[in-house]
Amino acid sequence: MTAKIIDGKMIAAELRGKVADAVHRLARDRGIVPGLAVVLVGSNPASLIYVGSKKKMTIAGGMKSFDHSLPEHTSEAELLKLIERLNADPSVSGILVQLPLPKHIDAQKVLYAIDPAKDVDGFHPVNVGRLATGLPALVPCTPLGCIMLAKTVLPSLEGLNAVVVGRSNIVGKPLIQLLLQENATVTVAHSKTENLPEVCRRADVLFAAIGRPETIRGHWIKPGAVVIDVGINRVMANGKTKIVGDVAYAEAIQAASAITPVPGGVGPMTIACLLANTVIAACRRRALAEPRLLE
Ligand code: NAP
Repeated sequence: MTAKIIDGKMIAAELRGKVADAVHRLARDRGIVPGLAVVLVGSNPASLIYVGSKKKMTIAGGMKSFDHSLPEHTSEAELLKLIERLNADPSVSGILVQLPLPKHIDAQKVLYAIDPAKDVDGFHPVNVGRLATGLPALVPCTPLGCIMLAKTVLPSLEGLNAVVVGRSNIVGKPLIQLLLQENATVTVAHSKTENLPEVCRRADVLFAAIGRPETIRGHWIKPGAVVIDVGINRVMANGKTKIVGDVAYAEAIQAASAITPVPGGVGPMTIACLLANTVIAACRRRALAEPRLLE
């Protein structure tokens, strides 16, 4: 068996198209243009790339992009003041603080200062709690993208054995909540899990969010399973840097029925879901009907 490749680039482009349509309708019918404020402190090379793509795609989607690139030495107090201003600014629908922040700034304090209604990353405890209790929430973008990709090849996740490897607040934990909402039977694995290969082999749908290159091997995958690889790992191959996932892709395509590639799988969906969250936040704050972007 050779797996179907789930084309995250194409699926993300479709979602961005739906977002752009929704933005167009909001501007035409209500005179509202959603805006995303992106805050970057310092010049971490990977962060500069992520922030650049987010800005470019925000503008391409017809939204306003507010760029706040601050020097590395910015104090926590200055950053909190900026967040306060953005919270109060009616033209800002969503606020994203790019992580990691410099060590002298308490990232948790900053993320918790964001108005939950503008928390398009879905990291604020109010949104975490709302998601966990089944209330409408702004949901972290990467897990949202994972579910959407899985549903392109599975008509329903109901009753399926879903295994999530990784339990971070950013990916693993919100993914567990979303899978429960889909009525999957969820198993969570992490660095202390015993016999990880055996746990993975139970999965009808396997999500890898570990941050370790090619950890999940082909023989850990149940034949016919769907594999969603969240990992982005930079490794050296033949003197060059390349990006690989948390799954040994060449092996996995022999066992899985469908798999996301790295790059070109989950990554593009994360930004598309961020744009969707920004439009949803803009509508919710005004109690307008929300476009159905994340189904
Ligand atoms: P993280 O915060 O470092 O969490 C990693 C998780 O993996 C932890 O729960 C850890 O377990 C578990 N783990 C580590 N080693 C393991 C092992 N050998 N066996 C089983 N579990 C193990 O990472 P993250 O932020 O969730 O990110 C995970 C990966 O996704 C990274 O490669 C990251 O770059 C990527 N990512 C991609 C996107 C995207 O847009 N595509 C977005 C976010 C993250 P413990 O809890 O026990 O330590």
